[in-house]
Amino acid sequence: MAHQECLFCKIIEGKIPSQKIFENESVYAFSDIHPQAKHHFLVIPKIHVTSLAELSDTNIMASLYEAALQIAKEKGFKESGFRTVINTGQHGGQTVFHLHLHLLAGSQLSGKFN
Ligand code: 5GP
Ligand code: ZN
Repeated sequence: MAHQECLFCKIIEGKIPSQKIFENESVYAFSDIHPQAKHHFLVIPKIHVTSLAELSDTNIMASLYEAALQIAKEKGFKESGFRTVINTGQHGGQTVFHLHLHLLAGSQLSGKFN
């Protein structure tokens, strides 16, 4: 169910424009507005989940990672490599409170954990 004030729910509903990369019945993926790599996509569940800390249905994680892998294949960076990141809560640096998987690729990424 969409949360009225949630930015990413509005993107799923098309109320806020986004550059769609992938969509199926449970997942939507689009380009990050402030890319941190040549390719930077956000993979999100269509159901509103505030964060990984609030997740009750872990099947959602499988669908997010399956979608990320499919995007990696379609965009041609499955072999060269990619990074997936989920920021959770305040200390995790989460700024949008609708669960999302960052998918980054396209060149050698620097840094790992901070
Ligand atoms: P977080 O910091 O919560 O892990 O990631 C939120 C991400 O959402 C950031 O990378 C930010 O650039 C992206 N973002 C924020 N607002 C928008 C928007 O309106 N459109 C798109 N496409 N990305 C957004
Ligand atoms: Zn939402």
